[in-house]
Amino acid sequence: MAKHDYDLFVIGAGSGGVRAARIAAGYGAKVAIAEEYRVGGTCVIRGCVPKKLLVYASRFADEFDDAHGFGWKLDDPSFDWPTLVAAKNKEIARLEKIYATNLNRIGVTIIEERAQVAGPNAVTLARSGATISAGKILIATGGKPSLGNPIPGLEHVITSNEAFDLKRLPKRVIVAGGGYIAVEFAGIFSGLGVDTTLIYRGDKILRGFDEDLRDALTEAYLKRGIRIVTGHIFTRIEKTADGLIGHLDDGSTLEADEIMFAIGRNPNTAGLGLEAVGVELGWNGHVVVDETSRTSVETIFAVGDVTDRMALTPVAIREGHAFADSEFGSKPWSPDYTDVPTAVFSTPEIGTVGLPEHLAAERCEDLHIYKAAFRPLKATVSGRDEKMVMKLIVDGKSDKVLGCHVLGEGAAEIVQLGALALRLGATKADFDRTMGLHPTAAEELVTMREKWVAPTEAAG
Ligand code: FAD
Repeated sequence: MAKHDYDLFVIGAGSGGVRAARIAAGYGAKVAIAEEYRVGGTCVIRGCVPKKLLVYASRFADEFDDAHGFGWKLDDPSFDWPTLVAAKNKEIARLEKIYATNLNRIGVTIIEERAQVAGPNAVTLARSGATISAGKILIATGGKPSLGNPIPGLEHVITSNEAFDLKRLPKRVIVAGGGYIAVEFAGIFSGLGVDTTLIYRGDKILRGFDEDLRDALTEAYLKRGIRIVTGHIFTRIEKTADGLIGHLDDGSTLEADEIMFAIGRNPNTAGLGLEAVGVELGWNGHVVVDETSRTSVETIFAVGDVTDRMALTPVAIREGHAFADSEFGSKPWSPDYTDVPTAVFSTPEIGTVGLPEHLAAERCEDLHIYKAAFRPLKATVSGRDEKMVMKLIVDGKSDKVLGCHVLGEGAAEIVQLGALALRLGATKADFDRTMGLHPTAAEELVTMREKWVAPTEAAG
């Protein structure tokens, strides 16, 4: 008789959990996965995928505008939010089904309820109360939006979870936060014609990104009519007959129909029973793991956002895959976290890989910067007043490209391949030797010859 009900019990059917379950089952392990909401997790149900669909929707406004310059005549296009939400919901339901089918096909048992850890080899199910034993337990419960410190009226705000399914599109929205989710939603709402304000406690949006991109996106957003209020936070949210009033820490107010908080995400560990079995949790409740994703309890592992390493879908997937290969396939490996490309699906969009200039400067004495800001070909005829920005950060000593940063149309697509170049250890000479593909914006990356010189240096 088998020692345990399952070889592996996964809690959370999101990006990391599903990948781990499928790979482990593929090696012949008996696997169960518990999901309290919907199979697919944040990315599929209320993250990357629906967000990108909303981003696409929001960009048609630009297309309609730009079309005029190319000779198209369009009768006043109009937009219907419920149609978009229904189409988005249809697509995520389709993906959810595919995820479940793939799990079923390989023999993974899906348990549609909340699970929590009851011991080093035991989980309990919240609804049925059943206790199940497993040789190994994987925590893949992801994260959830944080609302920050409690302030009066917080019950009136929404987070990204609710933003995806608003009954109607607000006329005025305020998005609080300066990270990529806040910035993306501000772009989405603005593109859909909503009067949009972004409020951020710091001095500039997108902390951690390269300064040139932060500045360029701020400028582009302001030109597009998005108000950006920095250096302030809300102290109170008031509901009135006309909507919401957000009271700021300087006594001023901002009014809107919806206020969305996107000020960060917390790991989903509350009530999971982890402390009781001796799993060490970190400063914000994340599960502390080693490079093999093992927790402080030998039989319990964790992957994805709940570990607070790099909260990105491809990273969660890699971690889940590495865990399953290592523990069930006798093929031990760990993900490599260097040069992970990321994007901000703002409009204009950002793609970035490697070090931003400020971090490269800390590690390298002789830094060579190449940058270009230009009007893309399409904008010359459409008349759009927006620049594309490209930047390469090069180690002057080894000539290695340390960072590649792009703002503008297709930036994320461009940078995915830039990431390959960095992974292969490309030097600036390699970029220079690469033939351009004409006419594209991306060719600028292989034709930048002049080192950028800071204005004061140039003057001196
Ligand atoms: P999740 O995908 O969050 O899955 C965890 C699952 O566990 C959830 O389904 C949850 O319901 C379930 N669960 C939690 N507790 C329990 C329990 N006790 N019992 C049973 N089930 C439980 N990443 C990108 O790479 N690119 C993007 O463009 C991008 N955009 C994003 C946009 C938004 C608005 C958000 C919120 C996130 C975005 N992300 C993006 C991040 C990405 O979604 C996450 O990094 C990824 O989903 C993490 O996967 P995970 O497996 O760790 O957790």
